[in-house]
Order: sequence, then C-alpha cells, then structure tokens
Amino acid sequence: MQNIDWASLGFKYMDTNSHIVHVWRDGAWSKGELVRDPYIKMHIAASALHYGQAAFEGLKVFKCKDGKVRAFRPQANAERMRRTAIRTCMAPVEVDMFLDSLKRVVNDNLDFIPPYGTGGSLYIRPLLIGSGPQIGVAPASEYTFMIMVMPVGPYYKGGLSPVRAAIYDDYDRAAPLGTGDIKVAGNYAASLYAHVQAKHNGFPVELYLDAKEHKFVEEFATSNFIAIKNDGTYVTPDSHSVLPSVTNNTLKQIAVDLGMPVETRPVPFEELETFAEIGACGTAVVVTPVSEIWRGDKVIKVPTGDKCGPVLEKLYHQVQGIQYGELPDTHNWCVEL
Ligand SMILES: *Cc1c(COP(=O)(O)O)cnc(C)c1O
Repeated sequence: MQNIDWASLGFKYMDTNSHIVHVWRDGAWSKGELVRDPYIKMHIAASALHYGQAAFEGLKVFKCKDGKVRAFRPQANAERMRRTAIRTCMAPVEVDMFLDSLKRVVNDNLDFIPPYGTGGSLYIRPLLIGSGPQIGVAPASEYTFMIMVMPVGPYYKGGLSPVRAAIYDDYDRAAPLGTGDIKVAGNYAASLYAHVQAKHNGFPVELYLDAKEHKFVEEFATSNFIAIKNDGTYVTPDSHSVLPSVTNNTLKQIAVDLGMPVETRPVPFEELETFAEIGACGTAVVVTPVSEIWRGDKVIKVPTGDKCGPVLEKLYHQVQGIQYGELPDTHNWCVEL
C-alpha cells in the first residue's frame, strides 16, 4: 500500500508503479508494455519534437461507493483521440485498444487510486506522439501511444469558489478552420503566453472570442464556456474551433434529464452581461464558476458574485454523484475496469 496523504493531493505529477507504452511500426501497434521508469528515450528527430505531432487526452478513474473502480466515459476520449490522430496524420489508436490499455495500466496502479470519500481520483493522461525521425515535413513513420496515470485530489476543498476571467483581444487561440476542435499539444502552446499574463494579472482563466471577428464567445484556454440564462436555459457556444468537451457533453445531457432547455449556438459577446450564471467546464474540475469577466478596463459582473450559482452547483453534484457511483448511471457512462 502506498503512503499517500490523500487529503493534501493537488493536481501535479507523482511517480506511480507504471505507465504503458505501445509503438506503431510497419502498420501495426505493439501489444504494449508497462514501464516503471518515467523517462522515455526518443529519437532526436522525432516529429513530435519538431513539427508538433502530439495529441493528448485527459479523463478520470474513480474508486466508487461500492468499492469498484470505474472510468468515466473513456470511449469518448478514445474517439476524440482518434479524430485528433486523423487530423494530424498520426496512426490512430482504435477504441478497443485504448480501453484495453487503460485497463492494464489502471490495474497495475490500483494502490494509487484515491479511496472513496477522499474526493480524489486517478487522473489518466493518454499521449500519442510522432516518435519516428522525420526532418522533411511529412508524417512520421513511427508513433508512440502512452498512458500516464497520477492520483489527484479534489479541486474544491471548501465548496465551488468562483474565479475571475479575462479576455485578451491581442491573442487568439484557434483559427476558424484550424485545430481548435482537436486535442493537440500545439493549442496549449498557442495559449500559454496569454495564460501566463492572465495569471500574473490575477485571472486564473482567460476567455477567447472567435479569432475572425472577436464577436462571439468561444471557450476558455483549457475548458468550455457554459452559461445559465435567467429562465434556466443552458447555453454553450457552437463553433468549429471549440474543443468538444466530454464534460460539457455530460452536463448538457444532465441538463436535459433535469428538464432544462439546452441551446448550443453562437453566443455574442454582448450576451455575456445577461447570463444568470457562467462557468468553465472540463475533466479536471468539472465546473469552475466565473464571477467576473474583464475585457480591457471593462468588467462584466456575473450576478452570482462570490458564490457558485444554484444551477451550476446542482449540475456539478449530479456529475460527481454519477462518477462516484452514488447516483444511477442511466446513460452507462461509467466503465468498470
Ligand atoms: C481538454 C479541453 C477541454 C475540456 O474537455 P473535457 O473533455 O471536458 O476534459 C476544453 N477545452 C480545451 C481547449 C481542451 O483542450
């Protein structure tokens, strides 16, 4: 048994028993190997290093109330990574292989899954990279698929606390027909500079408008934009350059199940001041409520202020309830490993 202080876990790297590695060569994936050493040996000319053939995913595995270990919607991540692979000319990983590989690496790291009741989970980080040497610009001839795992703590220790967001008109994250809709490492490199500035200025998250006109809301750097209208409608932007978030998709379905109207459509910047609640959603936190959105020296104050709004709070607890096996999993989202 590991000697881990579950209560003080944050969201940071920790050595575990293993990660799993598969290599694609001559048209086929290797059967995969569990590796303890966190360092990987790679060719200096690997396409991931030079030309950004690098995709990743993020999902969570939970120790549930009944003692079983379940992953939350892993097929959705597998399918998304497949789309990312195709768009970046990498060898795709089939869903079955992704799930098999996930099962193996989780079962080799059972001691690292935070116990039920601690609010933690095992964070799963699949990676797909071009590992073959490639100096002329072209897809690599070898790929490496890996899954790293690490225990993470609850994001909110004392309830959901809202954060301030900023819009920077000097930077864009994803072009209209670019790679915003797939999970490539380069999207994060593109947003890091603005992200560091935002952090420095006291904004944990930055919100992006559409790159073409800066008229419509798209998403935060690493999470989707969601809002609740005064009449209880769930609103989220429809745009090619927004990453299709599994969490957003989950929240939308729960909203529908709760009888809420759901609108996926363009969201003009001007509409921001009309929303009753605003949040950022993604796997790591589920929902982060937003209290203010700054653009230059103008500020939009969200009516819920320093507290999380009731609708986002309810949605958050529904998701967590399903993830920990406390509420019925009517959509078969949880996969026993
Ligand atoms: C990963 C990611 C999200 C969140 O997606 P989830 O599947 O909910 O974790 C949102 N936006 C961007 C840009 C992302 O890369």
